[in-house]
Order: sequence, then C-alpha cells, then structure tokens
Amino acid sequence: MATKLQFRDNSYLRENGAVVVSIQEDGGIVLNQTIFYAQSVGQPGDRGRLRTSTDQLIPIANTVYSDDKSEIVHVTEPGDWHLEPGEQVICELDWKYRYSLMKMHTALHLVSVCFPFPVTGGAIGANKSRLDFDMPEVPDNIEQFAQQLNDWIDADLAVVTDWISDDEMAANPELIKTMKVKPPVGQGQVRLVLIGEAPNVIDLQPCGGTHVARTGEIGPLRIGKIQKKGKQNRRVYLHLEEEK
Ligand SMILES: [Zn+2]
Repeated sequence: MATKLQFRDNSYLRENGAVVVSIQEDGGIVLNQTIFYAQSVGQPGDRGRLRTSTDQLIPIANTVYSDDKSEIVHVTEPGDWHLEPGEQVICELDWKYRYSLMKMHTALHLVSVCFPFPVTGGAIGANKSRLDFDMPEVPDNIEQFAQQLNDWIDADLAVVTDWISDDEMAANPELIKTMKVKPPVGQGQVRLVLIGEAPNVIDLQPCGGTHVARTGEIGPLRIGKIQKKGKQNRRVYLHLEEEK
C-alpha cells in the first residue's frame, strides 16, 4: 500500500496522526500516511519525532522514499523504542527546520525566474541553498537581480498548486513552453506550482516539494557567493537574512 503524502495537500501540517504499516530491519518506519516530506529533487527529508500511544518519543533523523518509491520510510537512530504494525502514532515535525526549507524552496523558484539562464542543478538547505546555472559569465547586474527577488517577496505573491492531467498538458503546449523544468509525463497527472495570480503568474513549474503560501513569508533574501563550476557552470548561493 502506497503511503498517502499529506505534505502535498497541506505543507503547513506540523502534527498529525497515522497508523504503523511496517518496521524495517534497519529501524525504518512505514506509516499509512505522513506529513514528513521525503528527500527528493534537492529538498532534504524532514526530521522530527513520532509519539506513540504509550508516550514513547521516537526521533526521526530523516525521511526517504523506498527503493520502488511507493512508500515513505521514516529513518530512525538505534534506540530502545518498541512499535508494532497497526499501532497509532502522532507525527510531529521539526517545524523550524521544515519552515526554513519551505521558504528556501519557494525562494529558489523565484531565483530560477530571475536569473535568465538554464538551471543545471541545486540543493536546498535550511541556512544556505544553491542553484547551478549554465551561465558562462557572471552578469554585472547581480544587484538588480537581488532587488527583483526582494521586490517579488515584498509583493507577497500567492503560491498555489494545481493538478493537470497529461491530456490537458498535451492540449496546451504553450504551458510547457513557459516552464523551466520539463513536466514528467506518463503518471496521468502532474502537480504544478504557480507563483503570482493570473494574468501575472511569474513562475509556473511542475514540482512536488513543499512551499510557503505567500512569498512574503520568505523575508529578505541575499545572494551570496557565485562560484565557477567548470567552463559553463556557475553556482549561486542564497541566504535567508534572518538565518544569518
Ligand atoms: Zn517547488
């Protein structure tokens, strides 16, 4: 049975109940549903803890997908907890960590729009994130980019998700043209993330990550070091001002 991904429907759930499906030999715990985001597309897995009905607290160090991607595994450190399939637990997120990741993740959407270069990679961190661009020369108007980013944050734009079927996508090829990231097809439907409201949508991308509801939540953003990575690539670092 596939794990129900509750973080997809509501990224603001910090605490929620679930039922234990299985416990792996290495201590990994599979639940019927979870608010813990599983590590993927550059965003780290969530941390936190599970509270059992007998008030045991089981620390969760990371969250990952199973090899076949159907289940989410809550990674534990060795400890003297005991859990059985069928038991009820309460999932409790390390919310401070996750909320920083949500701000950073949303900020990277804005950065990918602001820098007019193809994105070649990236990694999201709570304190520092990076995006890699196919950018042979560093533009000399970086300050303008930084201003644009902070203007979008100040404008407190709405961030909304929408689901679109493969058929709808095929019927609207101009939609794909506006996306920086190619949508995955063949799964029936794709989750789209839009920043800004029509007709002023500034970003539209297929994305399964967790985002803040409005760009204003990100707070001031600073562009840090820009590193040369090979002939073509430049690595751009981002910092949330409040995390300094
Ligand atoms: Zn995203």
